[in-house]
Amino acid sequence: MQRAAIQSAAALVFLLSISCEAQAPAIQPAFPAGPLAQRMSRLLDPGTGAWTQEQVAAMARIRDAAMSDDYALAELRHLTDNIGPRLSGSPQAAKAVEYVAEEMRALGATVSLEKTTVPHWVRGTETAELVHWQGMAPGTTQKVVLTALGGSVATPAAGLTAQVVVVPSFEAFKALPDGAVKGKIVLFNHAFDKELAAVGLGGEAYGQAVVYRGAGPSVAAAAGAVAVLVRSVGGADFRLPHTGATFYDPSVEKIPAAAVPAEDADMLATLAAEGRVEMHLILTPQTLPKVESYNVIADWKGSTHPEQVVIVSGHLDSWDLGTGAIDDGAGVVVSMQVIHLMQKLGLHPQRTIRFIAWMDEESGSEGAATYAAEHAAEIKEHVGAPESDLGCDHPTGITFAGSSALADWLQPVAHQLEPIGASLITQGPEVGEDIESLVSKGVPGFTPTQDSRFYFNYHHTAADTFDKVDPKHLAQNAAVMAVTAYALADSSTPAPRSTGQ
Ligand SMILES: [Zn+2]
Repeated sequence: MQRAAIQSAAALVFLLSISCEAQAPAIQPAFPAGPLAQRMSRLLDPGTGAWTQEQVAAMARIRDAAMSDDYALAELRHLTDNIGPRLSGSPQAAKAVEYVAEEMRALGATVSLEKTTVPHWVRGTETAELVHWQGMAPGTTQKVVLTALGGSVATPAAGLTAQVVVVPSFEAFKALPDGAVKGKIVLFNHAFDKELAAVGLGGEAYGQAVVYRGAGPSVAAAAGAVAVLVRSVGGADFRLPHTGATFYDPSVEKIPAAAVPAEDADMLATLAAEGRVEMHLILTPQTLPKVESYNVIADWKGSTHPEQVVIVSGHLDSWDLGTGAIDDGAGVVVSMQVIHLMQKLGLHPQRTIRFIAWMDEESGSEGAATYAAEHAAEIKEHVGAPESDLGCDHPTGITFAGSSALADWLQPVAHQLEPIGASLITQGPEVGEDIESLVSKGVPGFTPTQDSRFYFNYHHTAADTFDKVDPKHLAQNAAVMAVTAYALADSSTPAPRSTGQ
């Protein structure tokens, strides 16, 4: 740390020299008050804030232990390679619940399974081919790659054949003449903005495009379409479709819905601009009766305020195409790592650290809804809630949601993450789907700030597999989660809350 402090001091001298050349030969003098001065004094001495010197030293120990411990990596390997995809309601999801609960018991945590009821949708056959288009060789077909959207209804078993209408946006769709899509297949060809993702705004690019996946099927059904295709919400380059949930408007007929890769969307757009395109489409997913499932909850009891709770969490369910490594096996195992590190380092913070492996984030967040309902009376005792659900690339710091006062409160915590390049503090509107309702009630929410340039290349595809996780980045994420959780659980005063809704 000494070296970091010296570097910070050198940076301060440099900044002083460039920003007030005329008046300031020395470091401390009459430097005008303002944001720059504040930042500089923080660099020189970040202080210990709501923690003692010993507690700050514990944060450094936790960080270093996270960086040199392969517990999270081994757990991720088991969840992904041994158990596999963990779609809500599936036998693998049930197995994962059992496994994670057992692992948490082995660490000495107090484990409970919180019952929830989840959808049980299973993928079936999914094939498509063009049977008519401009320039076709007689007697041939052309394959179209696709995958059903989660929750999609099926086509007839033998499939359906219909003309494909391609629109780039909802605006273009609304501008079509009445009856233009009746009996047809609509392709919403809204491109995921790869340029946004390339500058680190992957979440924003996702937010812009995902509305077509969510609402496209009902919008098209309302106008008489018989099926919907959406251009994949993601940046994959290898003709990989990205699945994800679609949500039917209950007042409109449900029609089959699938995602096509960018390559197939481009091809369909080109051919449809040249003339009539007809597709034969078979999708045979099934929606089975809902099943019981569980949030896995494991408490590392607080030494003086066990009733006060800090959540650390990720979601245990995943899509079925890959093995759910980056979404969100990584979030689960870095949270497991928090409990593991408390045990390994013999730390017993004042407040309870509550690990939660949420169930059903992908198909409707039933697990989070159950938790919010069953713990409604205890929300005041929830002092903070980190969730990791934005992948597992290099974290550049901590993103929080809630009171702006959290930015200052976090300074000494973030300072301990500087050696791993994770000291930036950002206020974000969203930090995790599962903790959203807690955050809306005033509980401070946190998540590692991810490098999101690559996450959406694999998100919800068959390529979301163990190899996509860099062990060093996983360890860095575990360090951010563990240091943040410890800081929340052991501070002299709780993290500032917002008033909530
Ligand atoms: Zn996720």
